[in-house]
Amino acid sequence: MENLILDLKKILAIYKPLEQKTHKGSQGHALIIGGSYGKIGSIVLASKACLRSGCGLVTALIPKCGYDVLQTALPEAMVLTDDNERCISNIEFEIEPKAIAIGMGMGQEMLTQKAFHQFLKTNNKPLLIDADGINILARNKNLLELLPEKTILTPHKKELERLIGSWKSEEEKLKLIGTLAKKFSLIFVIKGAPTHIFDGENLYKNTTGNPALATAGSGDSLSGIITSFLAQGYKPLEASLFGVYLHGLTADIAISATGYESFIASDISENLGKAFLSLN
Ligand code: AMP
Ligand code: MG
Repeated sequence: MENLILDLKKILAIYKPLEQKTHKGSQGHALIIGGSYGKIGSIVLASKACLRSGCGLVTALIPKCGYDVLQTALPEAMVLTDDNERCISNIEFEIEPKAIAIGMGMGQEMLTQKAFHQFLKTNNKPLLIDADGINILARNKNLLELLPEKTILTPHKKELERLIGSWKSEEEKLKLIGTLAKKFSLIFVIKGAPTHIFDGENLYKNTTGNPALATAGSGDSLSGIITSFLAQGYKPLEASLFGVYLHGLTADIAISATGYESFIASDISENLGKAFLSLN
């Protein structure tokens, strides 16, 4: 295992600025699946961060109750609704997204668990799994075998613990993650202060971000940013590195105006523009 630092130099080697003649069709189409009654905001935040990171088209697949919320909060996104009013119960769509994110605010109803299982059986698109998607994987570890190569998992500490069990030292934690990453060809975004990205071979330590990010919806926004890069054709590891770095950078930029305490997850999307500009 090699320890690497995720800094601006690495990001500049990854970042591909938009080409003059690009159009929305070539900027990627992301599908963001999740949300449940009372947690539609997670999908609003993820979809907004996805659009603000250069993705050409974003479709959200949410329970029926979220339709008006999403179309009002984010008119730039397209919306597909599940037949169920309050939770995801059937993941079916006729669009051809370039990348998919699933799990944010999704809940773990039996109906949702079954739909998630069915979805994994047929999906072969580049995939990011967050939040309740990870919690459902932790309940049914046999689902790991269904994940496409280089699926990105973005657990925070509790989600990670549910998936790999508890650990006594950092070394043990990385060993457990590394074994899983290699066995199922996964990329782990180990969220924390700081966040690490680990594919079982290289461990990248992020250098951006601050405690302002300890706020509701912060992780949902990160999922949207990484999925945007996946949809735009960045490789899963590159998309993860770039997304984590940029997510942290938005908070580093924003605090001069918001301070640490009054920063909210919407400020991540609001500051993505300045974060991109600072790369040029
Ligand atoms: P979640 O818990 O899913 O909302 O994700 C929280 C996000 O905020 C992750 O990307 C964390 O790495 C980040 N974050 C939370 N607290 C801190 C902190 N004290 N310093 C830096 N990043 C943080
Ligand atoms: Mg989260």
